[in-house]
Amino acid sequence: MTTFTDLNLSESILRAVMDGGYTIPTPIQEKSIPPLLEGRDLLGVAQTGTGKTAAFALPLLQHLSKTPRKAQSRKPLALILAPTRELASQINDSLRAYGKHLHLRSCVIFGGTSPRPQVQAVNRGTHIVVATPGRLLDLMNQGHVRLDEIEVFILDEADRMLDMGFIHDVKRIIAKLPKKRQTLLFSATMPASVQGLASSLLVDPVQVEVAPTATTVEKVDQKVMFVSKDQKRALLGDLMNNPEIERVLIFTRTKHGADRVARHLHECGVRSDAIHGNKAQNARQRALESFRAGNIRALVATDIAARGIDVDGVTHVINFDLPNDPESYVHRIGRTARAGATGMAISFCDHDERAYLRDIEKTIRQSVPVFDEHPYHSVEIANDPGATKRPPQRGGFKGKRFGSGNGNGNGQRHGQNKGPGQGRGPNRGRNSQRSGRSGGQRSGKAA
Ligand code: AMP
Repeated sequence: MTTFTDLNLSESILRAVMDGGYTIPTPIQEKSIPPLLEGRDLLGVAQTGTGKTAAFALPLLQHLSKTPRKAQSRKPLALILAPTRELASQINDSLRAYGKHLHLRSCVIFGGTSPRPQVQAVNRGTHIVVATPGRLLDLMNQGHVRLDEIEVFILDEADRMLDMGFIHDVKRIIAKLPKKRQTLLFSATMPASVQGLASSLLVDPVQVEVAPTATTVEKVDQKVMFVSKDQKRALLGDLMNNPEIERVLIFTRTKHGADRVARHLHECGVRSDAIHGNKAQNARQRALESFRAGNIRALVATDIAARGIDVDGVTHVINFDLPNDPESYVHRIGRTARAGATGMAISFCDHDERAYLRDIEKTIRQSVPVFDEHPYHSVEIANDPGATKRPPQRGGFKGKRFGSGNGNGNGQRHGQNKGPGQGRGPNRGRNSQRSGRSGGQRSGKAA
């Protein structure tokens, strides 16, 4: 099996990769890094979640650090184009993480926010620019960025770029690039338009194709639970009674949300911590280490803070809040079921999140089975007229028990024995599907 040490990466880059907890390169990394280090052009058919960022970032960092040069004002040496600001910032974060032992500078340029700090960053000098096309063109037209010195050009998510109507901007940018350069193009799909762009851009490229993220998604046993916003915490407390949830990563949309959830878990007696942007780096590091070492059972995180987290043996991912971006969903659930292990992803979905769920299901091309056998199930949300109707799943999760960890394996459904306070679910009476079925069995265990 190939390891990172077999890939001829420099010691500083290897060290950063190891710090990030990676040991084995993903298939796209294994196939792309050697030819890229030789300076070849590359056509990569790969989706987010396959490790493609490191596949292009590591050779890029190695190339730039091989001949150390001072970061020049306005004249970067490498350009990475991405279709969205989220992806651009994520790539920039990855470059910083992988390049933390190097003396290279990178900055990110995207629209929808004041250009001033971005202009200042390129003026100060940068080796790498990660950008979305529109804002980059603006800054180029104003003379803040010049592409004459570009040695490596990377076009990420080319298909999405074209879908979003950026083709003309991309072509204008390409026209300003030097002819002699290394070019990489990544795309999840290869429609004729992308193929055309690829053949006009790449010279004798190596082609690397890896299985789509769907395979990652398919390995994860996914469930959705319909629950009102104000009952999510109670539902989480209930789920945590299940001892099968050994190591769980819980995602919230906001930093405050993460803190609130972690506090609630403490109150429920669950060892947990939260990591997010408002926490000092060393506090985040400590939380992560405790999670890795198994000293805490739950780590609550926002998407941004969770980037780069690589912990083996995450048995469950819980989306306390559904992300509004389907890619984040794929990223999140990919934290479990790593390295051949199985994993489970449970998503709480409130009324406002039905639309997010629909987008996610479109992206992953499958519908997420509903699990309604919990005391907080909301029929109203499940029957939301705007939502696609699906038969709810009955019985256990492939034999897995949920919640109410005092379940004794006698076939009890999760959630039968606890509601807030008095040991009864809030849906009693409201939820005709289950009232009368579970009422008498509740044992009233309080979390
Ligand atoms: P990407 O497809 O580049 O967005 O990467 C998806 C996720 O995989 C990110 O969270 C990376 O931190 C993680 N990752 C990338 N390469 C590896 C690796 N070799 N081993 C473990 N995790 C990785």
